[in-house]
Amino acid sequence: MITRKNRDQIALMRRAGKVVAEMHEKCSEMAKPGATTLDIDRVAREVIERRGARSNFLGYRGFPAVVCTSPNDVIVHGIPSDTVVLEEGDILSIDCGAIIEGWHADAAVTVPIGLIDAESQRLIDVTRESLWAAIDQVVAGNRLGDIGAAVEGRAEAAGFTVVREYVGHGIGTAMHEEPQVPNYGPAGRGFKLREGIVLAIEPMVNAGGPETEVLDDGWTVVTRDGRRSAHFEHTIAVTEAGPEVLTLP
Ligand code: MG
Ligand code: MG
Repeated sequence: MITRKNRDQIALMRRAGKVVAEMHEKCSEMAKPGATTLDIDRVAREVIERRGARSNFLGYRGFPAVVCTSPNDVIVHGIPSDTVVLEEGDILSIDCGAIIEGWHADAAVTVPIGLIDAESQRLIDVTRESLWAAIDQVVAGNRLGDIGAAVEGRAEAAGFTVVREYVGHGIGTAMHEEPQVPNYGPAGRGFKLREGIVLAIEPMVNAGGPETEVLDDGWTVVTRDGRRSAHFEHTIAVTEAGPEVLTLP
């Protein structure tokens, strides 16, 4: 079932979104050469606790952390670890969420670790742009396929590929609600957006092929060809005035 949220509910999701934005701010500051991915989880936990929020990642199907940390060829769902030390030139996807009074928000960014090569920077830029192209489509009367086509169009025009096995999602009183939000088209097809629909849109864009593989830990999703992958996500409401991004600072 696809639910529509009223103004009060969206206001609570906006509050959860502010917590997520602050988690990202602190995590991005921590994401430097020499830091471990567990250091990033620790600063995210501090924000959650200070803001009186709860984590929707911790314990999700047994997930052991409040953030997913996914370096380089890891697409999503990397587990923070004190043995994963970030190095100059890496890229790192940081994905996290928060719950306020039962309402969820979810967002992800990919950040450079120190100085990175030009191709990795282009991958990050194109993935971020593909998310914002998709956000422009989050308007009542548009369809889910318009969102996916916007991501796919931007990524493929740049010579990159989009991951198909993992998708965005509706969000509200659960982190993952219907509908699924694929990062591919066709435009003009699929569920029609209406006011009050809230979606987490999350392009995962690969430098090489789109194929994925899950490591033996049951979580970590990597590119099959070992090339790098970037990931951005926001939680966005369809409003009378157009798209409202709930996970901005
Ligand atoms: Mg998500
Ligand atoms: Mg997420």
